[in-house]
Parts: sequence; structure tokens; C-alpha cells
Amino acid sequence: MTRVGRLRDKVAVVTGGASGIGLAVVERFVAEGARLVFCDLAPEAGREMVVRLGEEAARLHHSKRAAGGPNDGAAIAERLGPAAIFMPADVTDEASLGAVIGRAVDEFGGLDILVNNAGVGGPEGALEKTSDAIFDRMIGVNLRGPWLGIKLAFPHLKARGGGSIVTTSSISALVGMAGQTTYGAAKAGVLQMSRVAAIEGAASFIRVNSVCPGGIVTPLIYENPLIGLELTAESISAAFDQAQPIPRA
Ligand code: NAP
Repeated sequence: MTRVGRLRDKVAVVTGGASGIGLAVVERFVAEGARLVFCDLAPEAGREMVVRLGEEAARLHHSKRAAGGPNDGAAIAERLGPAAIFMPADVTDEASLGAVIGRAVDEFGGLDILVNNAGVGGPEGALEKTSDAIFDRMIGVNLRGPWLGIKLAFPHLKARGGGSIVTTSSISALVGMAGQTTYGAAKAGVLQMSRVAAIEGAASFIRVNSVCPGGIVTPLIYENPLIGLELTAESISAAFDQAQPIPRA
């Protein structure tokens, strides 16, 4: 049975929408009839981030962002047509994220859905060897980013009479995984923040839910320099087949 159109007339913002899970969300939302603004880092962000964050923290950002490449948000928006607008933005920057949400409201008349998905990391290595730079950026993107998103979206969702926020946490929030102290702490924070936001938003008919994915075959895993292994989507897919209760990546 086709169920196309479940998001007809809905307006969404998706963060980290030019790669992996976020890109799949953007494509599906458009197919279901939503209009949306998605943000991610710009193709030229790599060099700029080394200057802004330093070499160490910039290593957390690795998507293939050549202009016109698979993770170029502008190229993705062009492919998807007028229902999808791309704005480059770093979710740790309140003004930039506010501009993304503001654009959705200005362009499409309001906001119904925020998908707080942008993230970095997964692995970072042993706790005793983790640098301050990795800690700060991991918490900045994975915890402060979703916090800002919720904070900025709430007034617009209230004005609309309600809406939905989805935050992307992780299985790393639920079980201890070696080499993921900071990532796991940030994702556990996202989970608890979502519970609190759900209680605070309930009276205004705002639902807040958090998803905790297991291993998903995305560049965050197979292109991640912090893992330090030569990986491909195929090799990771085969490994996840063996590592999860349902033997499928
Ligand atoms: P992905 O393919 O790397 O997508 C994440 C996107 O967010 C990338 O394009 C990334 O750019 C972007 N991003 C990072 N920092 C940003 C910032 N400050 N501002 C704007 N955009 C930013 O990874 P994914 O696997 O789809 O991850 C999506 C979410 O799922 C993340 O929150 C992740 O932690 C979570 N998750 C993933 C898995 C998994 O197995 N893949 C499991 C559980 C949870 P750069 O790549 O350049 O940094």
C-alpha cells in the first residue's frame, strides 16, 4: 500500500540533512509531501573549520563535500525541487540555526516539525587519550546543537498550535561502548533533554521524541578518520549484519 502524502502541508527543518540519516529523512519527507529547509555544513566548510576550530576538532567533520558531490546540500536541494531549501549552517551557532528555522517560517508560513539530527563522532578513542578539543566539539554539536534547536523551535511550534520534534540520540546513550565516553554522554544528554522538553511542550501540543539508532551504514561510520581503519559501506554493512540482533545493517 502506498502511503504517500502523510506529511502534506507540513513544514519541517532537518539538521545535518546532506548526509546519511538526515539526507534519507529529507528525501522521505519531500516524498511524503512536506516542504522543508535543511542545513548542513557547506562544501567550503572544511578549510574554514580548521581555522575556526583547529586541526583536532575539525577532524570530526569529514563528509565528502565537494561542490556538486553527494553531500553538497545545494546540489541535493536542486535535485529535490522547490519543496526543499538548503542553508549552510553550523548547529552550534545560535544565529545560523535561528536563520534556518526563520527561513522555513518565512518561506513556508510556519513550522510543524524539527528533526534535530546533525551529529559528529561515534568513536573518539580511549577516555584518557581524548583531547579537550574533541570533547568540546562533540558536546557542542551533539548536545548544544539539539538544545538550541529545541529552544529556537518551541515558539514557532506554539504559534502553530503544536508540532513535533525528533532528536537523534543513539544506542550509545543506552549501553556503555568503549571509546565513546563523550559521544555517549552527549547522546544520553539528548535523550534526557528530550524527555524534559516533551513534558514542557505537552501543554502546547508539542511532542518530543528521540530515536536511538543502532549501527547505520553512513559516512559517520565508514568515512570517519577517528576510527583509523580502511572501511567501505560494504565492509561496514557486513560487520553490522553480524553485530546486531536482527542480522541486517
Ligand atoms: P553523517 O552521514 O555523518 O551525517 C551527519 C551530518 O551532520 C553530516 O553531514 C555532518 O557533516 C553534519 N554535521 C556535523 N556537524 C554539524 C554541525 N555543527 N552543523 C551542521 N551539520 C553538521 O552521519 P549519520 O550517521 O547520518 O548521523 C546522523 C545522526 O545519527 C547523528 O546525530 C549521529 O550521531 C546519529 N547516529 C548515527 C548512528 C550510525 O550508526 N550511523 C547510530 C546512532 C546515532 P560532517 O560529516 O562534515 O561533520
